[in-house]
Order: sequence, then C-alpha cells, then structure tokens
Amino acid sequence: MDDTREILQGVRLLNPLGGFDGVVDVAVQRGSVLWIRKASCDPSGLWLLPGLVDMHVHLRTPGYEDAETLETGLRAAVAGGVTRVGMMPNTTPVLDSLSLTQSVKKKGESLGLARIEPIPCVTCGCAGEVCIDLESFANRGITCFSDDGSPVESDKALLDAFHRVACFNGVIIEHPEVTAMAAGGSVNLGRASTETGARGIPESAEYLDVKRCIDILRDSRSGARLHLTHLSSPESVRLVYGAVSEGLKVTCDVTPHHLALDEATVIARGPVAKMNPPLRSEESRKSIVDMIRRGMVTAIASDHAPHTARRKELPLSTAAFGITGLETLLSVTLDILGREAGMRPLNIIRLLTTAPAAILNTALPDIAAGKSLNMILFDPELEWTYSRTFSNSSNSPFFGERLKGRVVRVWFERELYREGEFV
Ligand SMILES: [Zn+2]
Repeated sequence: MDDTREILQGVRLLNPLGGFDGVVDVAVQRGSVLWIRKASCDPSGLWLLPGLVDMHVHLRTPGYEDAETLETGLRAAVAGGVTRVGMMPNTTPVLDSLSLTQSVKKKGESLGLARIEPIPCVTCGCAGEVCIDLESFANRGITCFSDDGSPVESDKALLDAFHRVACFNGVIIEHPEVTAMAAGGSVNLGRASTETGARGIPESAEYLDVKRCIDILRDSRSGARLHLTHLSSPESVRLVYGAVSEGLKVTCDVTPHHLALDEATVIARGPVAKMNPPLRSEESRKSIVDMIRRGMVTAIASDHAPHTARRKELPLSTAAFGITGLETLLSVTLDILGREAGMRPLNIIRLLTTAPAAILNTALPDIAAGKSLNMILFDPELEWTYSRTFSNSSNSPFFGERLKGRVVRVWFERELYREGEFV
C-alpha cells in the first residue's frame, strides 16, 4: 500500500451526501481520505466530487466483445469519472442465471477498475413472459432487475415481479416501450421521420408503457419500487411525477443526450445519433430540461451502448440503436443543466451519484475522513475535444466535438486515472 500522503489544496468539494459545497484541502493516504480541512490557499478552480454512479450501462460482454469488453467498458467508465456501473443484462447469453451474473461481476471487478452492479433480467431470457428466480439473486445481494432492450411485455409477469421484489426492497427497471408501436421505427415521429424518410417512433410508444407499468404497480398494492429508464417524452415524466404524488414508489432517469440534443442531430448526422428512444423534438427536449430543474427526474444515466462501426455504418433504417456515453456523461450533463436549467452543480451531481445509488440499493458515495477513496477531480473550465476513447467503440455524436469541463483524476480505493492515462 502506498504510504505517500498527498494534499489536494483549495479544491471545491461537492459532496451531495452531506450537502456540502465549499473550498477545502483534502489529504489522502493509504487508499483513504485522511482529513478534510478549511482551505489554506486560494481556490484552485478544480472540483472534487464522489465517483459517479451510472445506473444504465451496456458492457456487451459476453457476446459482443468486438463492441466492448469488460476491461474497455470499465476503463471508459473510469475515464468518465464513473466508479459504479449498473450493468444491463442484454448480453449473449443474457444475464438471467445467477452463475453467469456472478461470474461477469467477478471477472469485471478483478480488473481493479470500477465496481459492477449487475442488473439481471426480470424474465427468463429477457423474453418478457416468466419471471426468473428473483429471490435467489436477492439472497446474493442482487436486487435490481431489468429486461432492458425490451419492456416486460406480460402484465402477469410484471405483477408477479412487483410482488416478489417488494419482499426484499428490490426494483424493477423498465425500458418503457410499446413494441408494436415502435416496431420498424428508427427516429422520432415528426420532423425527423419526415425529413429522413425513416419510419418514426411516437412519444406515445414510450409513455403508454409508462402508464401501463404504473397502473399495474398501483393495482398490485405491493409497495414495490418501479424505475423507468431513459425517458424521452415529457408526458412520461409527468406520469411518473403523478405516481409519486399519489404515494407510489416510482423513480426515473434521463440520458444526457436527450437533454443536449434534439432530432435535428439525427437528421444532420444519421446513424451515429440513432438511439432508442430516439432524439425528440426541440420542444420536448426543453420541457425535460425544465422538469429536471423542477425536481421531477430522479437521476441521469448514460445508456452507454457501444457498437462496432460495422453495425453503425449502415442506412438509418438498419443501423443499430445506441451511442456510447460514459466518457461524456459528466461534461455534457453539467454543461446543459448548468446553462439551460441554471442548476447548482451540487444538485446536478446528486443526480449522478447519491440519487442513482439509492435506486440501485447500493452504498451512497461519500467523501469523508476515514472513508475509502472514491472521488474524482474535475476541471470545470477545461475545454477539450473528445477525440480518443477507452471504449472499444466510438459511436457517439459527441465524438470529435469540443466539450467543456473534464475529469482529470479518478481515485477508487487507489488512484486509477490521471490526465488521460491510467496510473
Ligand atoms: Zn433501454
């Protein structure tokens, strides 16, 4: 263990757990925070934040290692300041068995990078019909489930899942989509479908499934937790907010790209900006930004979805859905919510740390004396071009773009990353 003591002087500590926002000196030694004191010098301009929790990540392994391996995915996570990754189950084979889920987690974590929170399927084969043995996972501390990539199609299976996860405070994470309405679609129904000629996906294909899940949750009287992921329609957020107001345990997340981009990007750039749900109208985008400002959205998650060039360099109608997002998560989110919603950095960072951690039922990230290191140093003024990636894939509309604010150092139990390189 490295005994060297390092003092980070004059950093702005933003720690959502205690609601702290102030300039301090922080000493680190032997993998822990030694002390935090009032700053002894002028502010350095750098921010110190807890490691981010990205609750929606596709690591593609097993099955699509040419798009991402556990190592490349977790390196991309760390480079983006993410130290805890919610791993979605739509791999090949899918994560619906305890042995595979545990072995992927173990293999990933043996790399000594970010931690993996596996999110196995709700239903066998992620097929949407019959629940897996949810309790056997809960007995091993795995309590979040999703059929992401698809919704839990069967009402009966969803009802069953709610009753069962309620017993261990688990959560069902729904990818809200009425598949029959979205089938064959590639872009937003409206300007994008008209201008590109590709088939459109209406917002209702999302919010009608949000409504269905909330209705089943209410009827279940189970007290279970439901999380609706990557919402793109203001109506979906309104439904979630309504459910919360009536006392149901419903949360939701939005991706940075649905906040920063609208359908004009897919019209101009094509498949690199094709994702599901699609980029929506400028009006919807603005509404969602405003809903975040008003506290109606629980968390931000990247929906990091790497694909090889072979699966993306195709006509809009056949190219794969999804973009990478781990490395740009923090820069894009801080920029858009700071600029357009006028939110304080501490409140934005909460959406990327303690809020998703609480949904995932995992330890709340914290920077405090005596705590194991889990923190990132961020330069909010640094302008950079996103031109290099640690991911195996570079299918991001932000790739090659200028961004403001960059992760410069990352510690997770030890120092992992410094100025673009792994330590
Ligand atoms: Zn999804």
